[in-house]
Parts: sequence; structure tokens; C-alpha cells
Amino acid sequence: MRFPFKQAAQLLDQLITHGFDAYIVGGAVRDYLLGRPIHDIDIATSARPADVVSLFKRTIPVGIDHGTVAVLSGGKTYEVTTFRSEAAYEDYRHPSQVAFVSSVDQDLMRRDFTINALAMDRTGKIIDLFNGQRDLRMKRIRTVGCAEERITEDPLRIMRGMRFASELEFTLGSSECHAFRKQAALLKNISIERVNQEMTRLLAGKAVTQALRLLFETQCIHVLPLLEQADAKEVLDVHFTVLRSDAERWTAFLSALGIKDSHAFAKAWKWSNRLRQQTARLLDLLQLRKAQAWTREAVYSAGQDNANAADRVCAALGMISQSSLADRECDVRRIWEACPIHSRAELAATGNEFKQWANKRPGPWLAQVISELEREVVNERVKNETEEIRLWFKEWSTQQKEQF
Ligand code: ATP
Ligand code: MG
Repeated sequence: MRFPFKQAAQLLDQLITHGFDAYIVGGAVRDYLLGRPIHDIDIATSARPADVVSLFKRTIPVGIDHGTVAVLSGGKTYEVTTFRSEAAYEDYRHPSQVAFVSSVDQDLMRRDFTINALAMDRTGKIIDLFNGQRDLRMKRIRTVGCAEERITEDPLRIMRGMRFASELEFTLGSSECHAFRKQAALLKNISIERVNQEMTRLLAGKAVTQALRLLFETQCIHVLPLLEQADAKEVLDVHFTVLRSDAERWTAFLSALGIKDSHAFAKAWKWSNRLRQQTARLLDLLQLRKAQAWTREAVYSAGQDNANAADRVCAALGMISQSSLADRECDVRRIWEACPIHSRAELAATGNEFKQWANKRPGPWLAQVISELEREVVNERVKNETEEIRLWFKEWSTQQKEQF
């Protein structure tokens, strides 16, 4: 086989000419053999981190303790890691000791799944000690060595296994399934950030429903925060693949499970603020959308992208048909384009003008005026022109005085 990683070849050559062993390992080899896009290239080498730092011009010591140095070359970053074995996992989070070893074989043994334990040498030859290529052909996730031991060592592998099943459309081997079920409770020991990362990727995979079914069948789902009572019924009917963002997928997931308090969920799962806000917004829009079709006011306040996202979530939940989504996008665009303004900043009167007209100090009245005016302008009951707005405001002030 030809060596397919052209840019990385220079890095391997540099290591090899200095007497070290070096291989492309892990995901890059797996994805290359599957014909999938390759994200990042990991290199395993007999060179120690200090050697790696001295052999390359631009390096970042990203994980020296674990033997990893990032090497920047040709605009890309490569993780170069010294061959190592991982002896024991003390706290389920970090290997308690990392021992550097001399051969790639030993390095491959510590890897999680057979499909991730493949290495390619500089000639393009594949080193496959655990029948990883057979598992790639059979679309199967199997651990390197005894499933139960490998899961006990690092229970995050349960989530990784499910995530790979989803992304690659693979199934789990039977002893892996059995081990996942038996050791499910150990997932409690894993940092929620890492679980969240895997779950977010699982939800974005092509075979997400299959993977979610595995999560339920193995009971692993019930170990995860706030999912103790999760019921598979509706979640397995969600059409996740119409969704385009993590927020859309989490919104559909929470909604199908009947979880309303997304803020509590976001806190327990340590979501980023961005994901928390987007998901809360989409859940609100979903409620609105359940109650009514898009009005001009609703599209104006949601924004075009959010309105479309909410429609996709509706389609994922089977509330509207997937085939109608394109038409709905057109409808939303038409409504949006018909709005006389697209944000508060476009109003032809500012807070200062209202203060002058009213001859009053700013206060809660100002926010109320602006939001009422927005509604009037969006619905074309008031023209977005300063003089028209002034007249409307005069009337509004009179009415307010009459009311109080
Ligand atoms: P992707 O980048 O698509 O997530 P990947 O296989 O490259 O897939 P990484 O998390 O980048 O996954 O890890 C790189 C390699 O390190 C894996 O292919 C695997 O060999 C090894 N690895 C990663 N995490 C673990 C783990 N928890 N236990 C054992 N080996 C692991
Ligand atoms: Mg990777």
C-alpha cells in the first residue's frame, strides 16, 4: 500500500532518520481505511518528548506527562506521542502511571478498540495485532482484550464505544454489550464534561437511534445525570438526522424525554453557556410552535435561523413532516422579509428621543414603550418614521395617564 498521509510523511521521515520508530496511529488509520474524512493525524513514536521537541521547529508541549507533544507543520497540528502503556487507572480519570515502552506493539495494546488500535508505517503497511481490519469490514466495535477489564480500567470507553457505533454505523460485539451493561454504574466516576462530549457526538452520528437503543438496552443511560428515569419510548422515534446543530439535537432529545428544565440539565451536564442558551431558546420556540403557526411577531422575535431550527426540531419530533421543511423555510423567509424592521436598532426613534418627548427620566416605562412600539411597527400599525412614532407616543402617553 502507498503511504497516503503526504504531509505527515515529513514528520515520520524526520523521526526515522534520527533513529526512532514512528507510525500513524488510531483514528486517522481507521478513517483512512473506511474512506472517511480524516480530522487529525496522531503519530506514535519511540522518541521521547524531549527528543520530539528538539527535532521539530514548532512544538507545543500539550501533554508532556503523557508523552504528547503537538508538532506544527504545514499549517497543521500533529499529536506526536511516545509509545506508552497505561498501567493502572486510579481514579477512573487519569492513568495513575504512564510507562514509556519501546515497541509500537505495546502501545497498540493500551488502545480502546480494535479499530482504533491500527498503525501504519512509512511504507503504508498496516500493523493490526487485534484483527481491527476484520472488525472494520464487519462494522463491529470490539475492545482490545477482555471487554470487562478494559471497561473497568476506563469506563469512558462505554461512551466512546456507543459514540463510535453512532458515528460509524457499527454494532457492538456481544461481550462488549455484556460488559457495558455489567459495568454501567462505573460511568458515574467519569467527568461529566467528557461524557457530555461523547454524548453530543453520539447524537450527531448517522446511527444515533441505534446507539441510543444500546444506551437504553445496556441501562447505561440511567446512570447519567438527570436521566435516571429516562424512557426510551419517544426518544427512539426522533429523526435526529434532520437536525443541524448540537442545540437542535439536545432540544429534540430533552423534549422527547419530557425534560422541561433545560437549565438544570445544562448545569448538571456542565454545558457551555452558548449551548445552554441556544437549547433553552429552542425549547421555548418549540412550545410556541406547538401552539401556533409562525406569525410575523414570532418570526421577528425568534430570528430567521432560530425559526428554521425550531421547525427542524418539530420535524424531528414528528410534529410536522420532513418533506414540508423546505416549504416552511420559504414561508419563514417570506414572513421575515415582510417585516419592516429586523431588530430594535432599526427603529426610527431612540431612547433619547423618547426621554425628550416625555421629558421624563428613564425607567421601566422606556423598555415598555420600546417593546410596544416594536410590536406596532412589526405589524405595520405604526410606520417606522420618527414623526409617526412621535405622534404614536403622544397618544400612548395620554392613554397611560388615563389608566393611572
Ligand atoms: P476521533 O478523533 O474521531 O474522535 P480517534 O480514534 O482519533 O477518533 P481520539 O479520542 O482522538 O479518537 O483518540 C486517539 C486514539 O487514542 C484512539 O484512536 C485510541 O487508539 C486512543 N484512545 C483514545 N481514548 C482512549 C481511551 N479512553 N482508552 C484507550 N485508548 C484511547
Ligand atoms: Mg482523533
